[in-house]
Amino acid sequence: MTHNIAIDGPAGAGKSTIAKILAKELGYVYVDTGAMYRAIAVFYMDRCVAYDDEESVNSLIPEIDIRIEYKDGIQQVILNGENVTGRLRTEEVGKMASKTSAYPKVREKLVELQQNLARVTNVVMDGRDIGTKVLPDADLKIYLTASAKARAKRRYDELVQKGEKCDYDVILKDIEERDYQDMHRKESPLTKAADAVEIDSSDMSIEEVINTVKNLIKDEA
Ligand code: C5P
Repeated sequence: MTHNIAIDGPAGAGKSTIAKILAKELGYVYVDTGAMYRAIAVFYMDRCVAYDDEESVNSLIPEIDIRIEYKDGIQQVILNGENVTGRLRTEEVGKMASKTSAYPKVREKLVELQQNLARVTNVVMDGRDIGTKVLPDADLKIYLTASAKARAKRRYDELVQKGEKCDYDVILKDIEERDYQDMHRKESPLTKAADAVEIDSSDMSIEEVINTVKNLIKDEA
């Protein structure tokens, strides 16, 4: 039996930061499911498939092969033999992923891969439907959230630090749009599992969130 921790929540709530630290401390494997949906988005973008062309999205699914590897402990996504990890974290890919992830056939393909990973190894897995759909029997479920304004401010600070030009209002609008799409789609919408513990990180430091989760793990033991 493996021990699994599910972390769900909206874009920019700090899921991956928290999940990575936790996985490292626990000696578990960190699985970033958003990266898998992003890789699928890259596949369709490379083929110039429009996000609303459901027929093409569905008919091309058998041509998609997604694999996960780890290099120096960091997750790599291999799309049809090509390591696309470096192409995943752009706003454009995020937006496309939010659209193409709404298709049931896309989700079916990735959910199976995610469940297989959690079956063979202890994981901290983050995403939108981990506690509700992928790992309904996870040992601990966290719903990590933060206000849209707090998430936009974090993203803004991150981009400014990287020296990129950006507009806070545009970032806030993008976050609100993505929240809406992820929460209102028919298939596996983002929602808190009934047995998940909600943590609002709006006014918390990373360390405070980590300590809160660690206490929950202790309580569970
Ligand atoms: O978490 P990240 O921003 O990388 O996810 C990109 C998009 O992939 C999300 O906006 C969401 O639409 C989709 N996603 C999903 N289910 C997951 C993880 C991500 O639908 N488990």
